[in-house]
Amino acid sequence: MAIPVSAEIATVYRLPDGSLHHARCGRRLLVQGRSTEELQCYCLTCAESVWLPLCALVRAAAADGTIRPPWS
Ligand SMILES: [Zn+2]
Repeated sequence: MAIPVSAEIATVYRLPDGSLHHARCGRRLLVQGRSTEELQCYCLTCAESVWLPLCALVRAAAADGTIRPPWS
């Protein structure tokens, strides 16, 4: 028997000042907590929790200070 699970993908973006914004509404996300693997955020406008993997948020900078996308 299959159990229905909601797995909607949430999209966020980060501004140069480091703040995270919900792509659906453009509002700034509130950080509520973190585990060893994920950052828990909340959008007050959409009343939605957003879990972000920490590995997607932190990347090592190159020697010249630039942060390149993982696919390059
Ligand atoms: Zn939102």
